[in-house]
Amino acid sequence: MKAAVLKWRGADGVSWRDFPDPTPAQGESVLRVAASSANRVDLYMRDSGAGITHSLPQVMGVEAAGVIAESAPGSGLKPGMKAVLYSEVFCGNCRYCLAGDQPLCESVKIMGEHRHGGFAEYVAMPSQCFFPLPDDSDLVAAGALMTGHLTAWRMLFGKRALQPGESVLIVGIGGGVAVACLQLATMIGARAFVTSSSDAKIARAMALGAAGGVNYTKDNVAKAILDMSNGGVDMAIDSVGASSWADSLKSLRRGGRLVTCGATSGANPPADLQRMFIRQLEIYGSTGGSVGEFRQLLDVFARGLVKPEIDSQFAIADVRSALDRLSAGAQFGKVSLIV
Ligand SMILES: [Zn+2]
Repeated sequence: MKAAVLKWRGADGVSWRDFPDPTPAQGESVLRVAASSANRVDLYMRDSGAGITHSLPQVMGVEAAGVIAESAPGSGLKPGMKAVLYSEVFCGNCRYCLAGDQPLCESVKIMGEHRHGGFAEYVAMPSQCFFPLPDDSDLVAAGALMTGHLTAWRMLFGKRALQPGESVLIVGIGGGVAVACLQLATMIGARAFVTSSSDAKIARAMALGAAGGVNYTKDNVAKAILDMSNGGVDMAIDSVGASSWADSLKSLRRGGRLVTCGATSGANPPADLQRMFIRQLEIYGSTGGSVGEFRQLLDVFARGLVKPEIDSQFAIADVRSALDRLSAGAQFGKVSLIV
């Protein structure tokens, strides 16, 4: 088959080339990939990969949708079915898996990180990671769901679920997770406020239903959010980290909650403990989403209630351009790859 393979670190280490077909282990099925999308973690794998157990060369790509090419006996899957992959291989036996909390699995292995990924003509995964889709499903949209929308789903509706009528601050609109948060918050009738350095991105967010936006290069974020939300938001979603943390904390109402899912600008901002205890704030982290949350997301997707916003589409042979597009940070929504 052909695959986008990372042979060495750096932008020129990625190429679309011949690679051995996947050989499914017992219980695994094979997907013929139709579409995937590029994510920040692909850039991390390309440029560093530190802390993630893997070996090069490796097929990249942490999500994929397509058509089942080979199904394991007894899996209930049938060749020819459209399907999307849950991209985390979980053990099913640890205390977290048994509690339905697969993203916390003690031996989780993510495709495109710990094992070969979805930037390929074919990928093998345990059959329990295959989720059949209706025949009329848009596979480009499905191939952009797992990372952005599932991560967003767990942040918004996981530990302390955002409620209709509540408000949420989404820091740094434009990335796949942030845009997914905007779509999902709006879908349930919550008010979403966004920040960006780009007036154009704020305008696009408003067109998607945002209740307000702040350009952080021109205005004081916390002051503007407190004004627009009448005293502070119920929840803040911050994947930026050090550079936005203080504003995110100050934008919360008393008793509000801050969810972190990334630290692109730095991982150690001042904690501001006095603010935390006096205002009784909650702070917690989130990454990925559970199988149960994925089922909920797929139900909403299949009914047409939410569809990923696609920034751009690239043929997979042009994977380097897709990663460059993501690296430049100018995107609004998902950078899709068509196989
Ligand atoms: Zn487990």
